[in-house]
Amino acid sequence: MNTVASPKAPLSLPTDGRLDERSRRARAEPMSVLALGDGLYEVESASENTYLVDMDAGRCTCPDHVFRGVRCKHVRRVAIEITEGRTPPPGRVAVECHDCSRVRFVDETEPGPFYCEEHTLYPGDVARDRETDARLTVVDVSDLRADAVRVGDDGTTVAEYATNENYDPDVPVVGAVYPHARVGPNGVVPEALKVYTFPRTRLEKLTGSEPV
Ligand SMILES: [Zn+2]
Ligand SMILES: [Zn+2]
Repeated sequence: MNTVASPKAPLSLPTDGRLDERSRRARAEPMSVLALGDGLYEVESASENTYLVDMDAGRCTCPDHVFRGVRCKHVRRVAIEITEGRTPPPGRVAVECHDCSRVRFVDETEPGPFYCEEHTLYPGDVARDRETDARLTVVDVSDLRADAVRVGDDGTTVAEYATNENYDPDVPVVGAVYPHARVGPNGVVPEALKVYTFPRTRLEKLTGSEPV
């Protein structure tokens, strides 16, 4: 899983009330926080040192916590970032959209690939096949993996198809149709309505485009 850290920047200080020194530095210093899962966070400090914070236990590997036993600025920083929505709470991690750089918080056990709302495929969406550049209309999205879905009479899985070798076998599959159904003298030509199954990452959602 490709997790991402919060931006390394200072946080705004409250305009009212006074903060003790550790709380002030927890906000004022540029630090980035990476959720690792299991309630663990990696904090990169302004001095480029990296400390491991255990939020469930309220512990940190920095000298201030280890030798003085205090609630150090790193533990405070993680707590503030969780409260402000900059860093995911325990049980969740921050990941980037597969097709853009937007960051989402997901359950730490959720399998990828991950997509932002704009790039999530829904039935009726138009998508581009990265292999052929063809436009397709999505008719079905599922949680089934490409290496578990069999297509064709010989039991070949979607992942085993030669044209799918560039895509991870453990991604979910998407069913799509070629939208330009051919109409013959007796109505729609049946093969034009055939649903083809693709590994999710082979399709790119076309956003803001004209329907085909
Ligand atoms: Zn610390
Ligand atoms: Zn996206």
